[in-house]
Amino acid sequence: MGIITLDGSMGEGGGQVLRSALGLSLATGQSFVIERIRAGREKPGLKRQHLTAVLAAAEVGGASVEGAELGSQRLAFKPRTVRAGNYRFSIGTAGSTTLVLQTILPGLWAADGPSTVELQGGTHNPLAPSFDFLQRAFAPLMRRMGAELELLCPVAGFYPAGGGQLHAKVAPARWQTIELLQVPQRPIVHARIVLSRIPANVGDRELFTLRRALDLRADAVRIDEVQSPGPGNAVMVMLELGATTEVVTELGERNVTAETVAERAAQEAKDLLAANVPVGPHLADQLLLPMALAGGGAFRTVAPSLHTRTNAEVIERFLPVKFTLREDGGSWVVEVAPATDRA
Ligand code: ATP
Repeated sequence: MGIITLDGSMGEGGGQVLRSALGLSLATGQSFVIERIRAGREKPGLKRQHLTAVLAAAEVGGASVEGAELGSQRLAFKPRTVRAGNYRFSIGTAGSTTLVLQTILPGLWAADGPSTVELQGGTHNPLAPSFDFLQRAFAPLMRRMGAELELLCPVAGFYPAGGGQLHAKVAPARWQTIELLQVPQRPIVHARIVLSRIPANVGDRELFTLRRALDLRADAVRIDEVQSPGPGNAVMVMLELGATTEVVTELGERNVTAETVAERAAQEAKDLLAANVPVGPHLADQLLLPMALAGGGAFRTVAPSLHTRTNAEVIERFLPVKFTLREDGGSWVVEVAPATDRA
């Protein structure tokens, strides 16, 4: 097997190119070298979250690695054997535990037995899947595709304190293809507001704003006081769309009113409902790799982002699959099929 060489600045050029490559390398046994990691970003190279992903992948795959340092823009990754086990990884900051978990999942699904993973860091981060998204949107689809994934969040982690805990149980996958093409019929909307060390009136104001903006009944919104080492607030809107559940996450921030946080979440939920698709932009991104591992599948979604297109390109470098992204009426269909033009 030759070594795959990737340009980390390709397409969207962010951390996803690296994370997908690590997951694919574990799942296929293919070595790779990636250069110009996050080259166009303000602080290029590996950030702590990316470095934790590299080290976690190296441990799971018994890999030899060159360039695993903060700020490194070149990494060589050569896996040996993926091993099931009981793993623990700490990000050491509020960096996203969900992104680190997603990096190693393809490897653990290809392992020789069940595994557990305990991660410490952020569980509700900006620009990453929230724990709730992973648990309610992503994991159920993985189980339907034959890839066991059970998740718990005994302690939440928010920026900047971090210190959250994400626990996962994973078992070897028996992949099955799925199709998520149906337009949602009568979506059901509900919401969850989480608070840690934040005045209770913040949750009450978010609840009031959400109910009004999304026309929700009182019992459709829940406020949970969660355990966390630091203060934090997240508003999650769940959209039960028939074949899928989508989760919109908006995080409370300093100097942003509770009303604004709830309105942003409501707007994102309305946009997704108006798009009339079972798979939103983030879930689209995250379905590509598992669907490719399953050797096929399709879903209806919104216009694919550059992030999604780049991810598809990276996957095609490792697996004998071909992605087709086509417009279909007002929405888009993404299809994965075995590549026919490979030797
Ligand atoms: P960089 O700083 O290099 O851009 P990164 O590694 O922090 O990179 P991205 O490459 O942008 O991050 O990848 C973030 C991932 O998190 C993507 O898969 C994206 O779909 C997902 N994501 C971002 N926001 C959400 C959200 N609100 N809900 C679910 N998933 C999300």
